[in-house]
Amino acid sequence: MNREETLLKNVQDIQAALCASCQKAGRRPEEVTLLAVTKYAQDTDVLFLLKQGLIKHIGESRVQQALLRWTQPDFSAFPTVKHLIGHLQHNKAAKAAQFFDFIDSLDDFSTACLVDKHIAPGRQVRGLVQVKLTDRDTQSGLPLDQARELTKRLRSLERLKVCGYMAIAPQGADTQTLKGLFGTVKKAFDEDFSPKEERYLSLGMSEDFTVAVEAGSTLPRIGSKLFA
Ligand SMILES: *Cc1c(COP(=O)(O)O)cnc(C)c1O
Repeated sequence: MNREETLLKNVQDIQAALCASCQKAGRRPEEVTLLAVTKYAQDTDVLFLLKQGLIKHIGESRVQQALLRWTQPDFSAFPTVKHLIGHLQHNKAAKAAQFFDFIDSLDDFSTACLVDKHIAPGRQVRGLVQVKLTDRDTQSGLPLDQARELTKRLRSLERLKVCGYMAIAPQGADTQTLKGLFGTVKKAFDEDFSPKEERYLSLGMSEDFTVAVEAGSTLPRIGSKLFA
């Protein structure tokens, strides 16, 4: 297979797995949006999938790197929904506010306020609060109870619209553990965000997205499996 055939097969495999997980969980596949994580991907690979119309939501970890890539004319020509999935530093809040459509990694009230302040009038940016699922200090995000508190406080912001949770599962966790962790976040999500409002639950990455979608994820973030 050449590179393009490989990429097409990756997309097909992922879509098939997403559909199978939906079916298993009695969910409609339209409820699930693939968030293509492009942070490690080659420009040519990303451009190919954009041209094929196979990816729309894209995720980048770093503000600076995202700007460098996505402000180039050959990239900006495609209508995409841009997500920041990595930790947001205070000093990048203004740039992030102007560039991203979603900030999926909110974990701090003052940074969120700064983002809100820098969003142009008339524009809205969606925000997800990042829930921390491990005790490891290297992980960003907040323990679930604090994430829920932050969500309440963020409801007062107007341009940054809080609309869900994001979480990263511990690496190498077994399926049972994953189900428990994802289930806990899903329960809080259902309590804090009504199905009548626009809402997103971003659980699952390349290694665990099937379990995540079975547990209710609406926005799995997939990088290495897509660009393998
Ligand atoms: C890099 C990254 C991903 C994608 O991970 P893969 O295992 O390559 O699919 C998803 N979410 C976040 C927050 C990331 O930083």
